[in-house]
Amino acid sequence: MIKKSAAEMAAALSAGEVTSVELTQAHLDQIAKVDSDVHAFLHVDNDGAIAQARAVDEKRKSGERVSPLAGVPLALKDVLVQKGIPTTCGSKMLEGWRPPYDSTVVTRLKENGIVILGKTNMDEFAMGSSTENSAYGPTHNPWDLSRIPGGSGGGSSAALAAFEAPLAIGTDTGGSIRQPAAVTGTVGVKPTYGGVSRYGLVAFSSSLDQAGPCARTVLDAAYLHEAIGGYDRMDSTSINEPVPAVVAAAKDGNIKGMKIGVIKELQGDGYQPGVLKLFNQSLEILASLGAEIVEVSCKYFDYALAAYYLIAPSECSSNLARFDAMRYGIRVGEGSAEEVMNATRQVGFGREVKRRIILGTYALSSGYYDAYYGSAQKVRTLISRDFDNAFGKADVLVSPTAPTTAFKIGEKANDPIAMYLNDIATIPTNLAGIGGMSVPSGLAEEDGLPAGFQIMAPAMKDDRMYKVGAALEAALLTKWGKPILDNVPALGAK
Ligand code: GLN
Repeated sequence: MIKKSAAEMAAALSAGEVTSVELTQAHLDQIAKVDSDVHAFLHVDNDGAIAQARAVDEKRKSGERVSPLAGVPLALKDVLVQKGIPTTCGSKMLEGWRPPYDSTVVTRLKENGIVILGKTNMDEFAMGSSTENSAYGPTHNPWDLSRIPGGSGGGSSAALAAFEAPLAIGTDTGGSIRQPAAVTGTVGVKPTYGGVSRYGLVAFSSSLDQAGPCARTVLDAAYLHEAIGGYDRMDSTSINEPVPAVVAAAKDGNIKGMKIGVIKELQGDGYQPGVLKLFNQSLEILASLGAEIVEVSCKYFDYALAAYYLIAPSECSSNLARFDAMRYGIRVGEGSAEEVMNATRQVGFGREVKRRIILGTYALSSGYYDAYYGSAQKVRTLISRDFDNAFGKADVLVSPTAPTTAFKIGEKANDPIAMYLNDIATIPTNLAGIGGMSVPSGLAEEDGLPAGFQIMAPAMKDDRMYKVGAALEAALLTKWGKPILDNVPALGAK
């Protein structure tokens, strides 16, 4: 049962073939069996999950109407608050903190009867590409436990690939949903900015952060997207429009006549040959399904990484000022407020978080504001214009999701620039506020590890990504004869 898709599990639940308590217990058993190897979870809410499952079973039994994913379990990234459940953001700073309220994403999960199994590991405050920056130790990629599961949402992607949960929630500031999906052979979607509420999402870079669905199939991601998406008056950047019809698009998958734009700047040097080969194969498949492939150029994308690493640290330096030892989490030392604050931030934050706070504070300081932050904002506008022009020539844009497959734990840990380069292809969409999706493109010939195909669509046209993603997924399934995750080695032998 745990190897099925969420849609299949939902069908089994509504046919009465299985109860949510049984399904939830099966996933809790799998977590108990494999998570000492994988370390996808920071907290497993055994009793709470069973209680939620029982409530859904009773509702269903009494004949009450339930939503499509009711009773299906999910893993929640530890950056979204859930009332009473420890929320750490992968940081020592928040050790032991239990939020007094639910984020809107959690409220909607609960309203939909989706069972929350627990909180997943992540790079501290979502800063990183490997989950090695977690204060609680790294998560291991189920494909090869010596490798990273991507980041910052590596716990969520690993939980999916290890069959610990069929659904997960991630957040994507520069790629943290899509790059983990790519390196674990799973599906991840960063919706249009404003498409999913940020209320109760612990802020890293508020103008870039976006929560979204993670799953093993495009259709599952679509169901989850519709469950969590839509207007929320608690988030001033929330878009007051209906959620794009992503489930219908995922079920349709007809891409005949669609124009698919290949971004010239997002390939070539620095991309692993096997990843590029899979990307080109995917393009051929889409062409054979009736899409028209065109090449587009986005010349300012070369500056996207530099702009991001000024804007994101600048916003983070302001957002993380709230961790002052007075309001949330740990408190260290004695003396004046300033001394306590100093000692707490010294102990509570890890190296990468400190690096970004220092970088951002510097970029925002009065003498440098225009030169750094101001310039980065101008580049951001130019990148948006690049997208606008490209979408004049194509319905969706595509690229490899990440330049390489999963690297070894420790390989890039002491080289921030090498780490930052993982998001070279995902960052432009965050800067422009548009949607992006990663679907598996296959296993790279060099190392047999999964790679991702990225699909980007204009703001609030998220349905287009699902259409193309579903078409590619179906064609690859026919080609391989089985889902890509059937190749994950058996876990939990010890
Ligand atoms: N890896 C990028 C960073 O470190 C993106 C992180 C994210 O999307 N949360 O900032």
